[in-house]
Amino acid sequence: MWVYVKDLKKHIGQEVELKGWVWRSRSSGKIAFINLRDGTGIVQVVVEASSVSTDTFQNAKKLRMESSLIVKGTVKEEARAPGGVEIHAKEVIPLQIPKEDFPINKPDHSIEYLMDHRHLWLRSRRQMHILNIRDAVLKGIRKFYWENGFIQIDTPIFTGAIGESAGNLFEIDYFDYGKVYLAQTGQLYLEAACMALGKVYNLGPTFRAEKSKTRRHLIEFWMNEAEVAFYEHEDNLKLQENLVSYIVKFVLENAAEHLHALKRDISKLEKIEPPFPRITYTEAVKLLQKKGFNIQWGDDFGGDEETEIAKQFEKPVFVTHYPRKAKAFYMQPDPENPDVVLCDDLIAPEGYGEIIGASQRIHDYNLLIERLKEFNLPIDAYDWYLDLRKFGSVPHSGFGLGVERTIAWIAGLEHIREAIPFPRTLYRIHP
Ligand code: ATP
Ligand code: MG
Ligand code: MG
Ligand code: MG
Repeated sequence: MWVYVKDLKKHIGQEVELKGWVWRSRSSGKIAFINLRDGTGIVQVVVEASSVSTDTFQNAKKLRMESSLIVKGTVKEEARAPGGVEIHAKEVIPLQIPKEDFPINKPDHSIEYLMDHRHLWLRSRRQMHILNIRDAVLKGIRKFYWENGFIQIDTPIFTGAIGESAGNLFEIDYFDYGKVYLAQTGQLYLEAACMALGKVYNLGPTFRAEKSKTRRHLIEFWMNEAEVAFYEHEDNLKLQENLVSYIVKFVLENAAEHLHALKRDISKLEKIEPPFPRITYTEAVKLLQKKGFNIQWGDDFGGDEETEIAKQFEKPVFVTHYPRKAKAFYMQPDPENPDVVLCDDLIAPEGYGEIIGASQRIHDYNLLIERLKEFNLPIDAYDWYLDLRKFGSVPHSGFGLGVERTIAWIAGLEHIREAIPFPRTLYRIHP
């Protein structure tokens, strides 16, 4: 019976078949040890010359790192083994034995070398743990929306309307239509969908030609965006803190072993629950100035500013009411002070930076036209978006959560590039 390593404990005393790859192996005259990995874990296989055929023992000795193989044997309880079990082999069947050394076989390869071999690096234990945490984050996101009555709307990748700043767009030639762009966000489409379905979300890749190299920016990254009709900014803040707390809890409940393996300080994650602290942009500027930052009211924050703000709190912190001019065209002005908008950035603790950008959206037709002009955007590309303000316009709000930023924070990764299977960065699109 074919079983996976993670399920071996349920099969103690039974004869099983394992399919996988050689993690490490060593042998002497009478005994061979194979550490077999199958994507769900690693188990030690013991091959004794005295209890297998000569063929099987010779096969076991021939194996080298990352050979593929099938093993048949008995599951034995073994307290000293990781996972508490080992396999006593009856048969070892090599499927393919590499002719060269596996390229990743040292503890000290450079990050460039590892990224050049990303297709093989994925087989490492560390990457296996990170990808399991990524999977848990994505499952947690979907489950949250499922439980809260949201409909998933898949927004397009090709778009004619700019959703964020014009500075980091990818242009594509699109048949007779001319220039279109890869989506920086699906927000505008979600706004249309929330007027049809009420509570909607998306989950998928977005693209930004980020020219700066930071440990928080990818060129292709995943976003989860949500948009809700009739939500004002206060409702939006609550939705964000509930979502983020839910994701963290879901990962703690379903992927704790992977967090432990990465030596993540779990106690920090256990503190993440609503409500999250809030400060206004104006208060944040004062705080930064007091700490010696050279920042003026009106500037957007970069990574260093965000890290300093986050230091004051154990939980993610909402920075609210940014200056209108520092943010995108679609944000609703604060009725009490039209120089700032009803928006927030959610900054993760421990220096992981902005994980969410959010706002209430402008729902007044004339005000939106005014803003499009102020931002020098082509009104005709937004005809359909303006229609949403002509037919039953209502206040509505939403946000975009950076999936890899969230993973980097939860898993405690130094750099965002490990949070996605095949990262696209300024200087890398291969493999
Ligand atoms: P930043 O200020 O860090 O550049 P942003 O304000 O430009 O981010 P938004 O337009 O608010 O980003 O996008 C929503 C979320 O998407 C961000 O809060 C962040 O978590 C994530 N994000 C934005 N740009 C990137 C990127 N280049 N790589 C990875 N995640 C990103
Ligand atoms: Mg940016
Ligand atoms: Mg930002
Ligand atoms: Mg933002």
